[in-house]
Amino acid sequence: MSKDCIFCKIVEGEIPSKKVYEDDMVLAFHDITPVAPVHVLIIPKKHISSILDIDESDAENYIAKIHLAAKKIAKDLGIAENGFRLVNNCGDAGGQTVYHIHYHLLGGRNLSWPPG
Ligand code: IMP
Repeated sequence: MSKDCIFCKIVEGEIPSKKVYEDDMVLAFHDITPVAPVHVLIIPKKHISSILDIDESDAENYIAKIHLAAKKIAKDLGIAENGFRLVNNCGDAGGQTVYHIHYHLLGGRNLSWPPG
């Protein structure tokens, strides 16, 4: 846990969230400012700042679990069939604003490419 991290505070229950999935390693909750009809954030419970800080063990455990959670949530929320996007913003130019690694699960509308 990192004491000034808002997502660590969500993991600890100090900040409320609308949870859609939780297991021993991963938490997923609705984004507070959704940009699609379904916009869920999937995070590891361990504080990892960004992709640049993932080690082999994190990749095998947390990142793998995040992908499995994305599959389950997409099915549960009804966006699996039409398609969805799983996005990680890394670093300032990548659009990252919260430095606790997270994946945006977006769906429920046609998503354009390339992103802005
Ligand atoms: P980033 O810009 O890729 O780092 O994404 C951070 C996301 O966190 C943004 O989409 C925000 O809307 C979202 N966010 C920030 N604070 C909260 C919160 O307290 N609850 C849920 N989502 C949040």
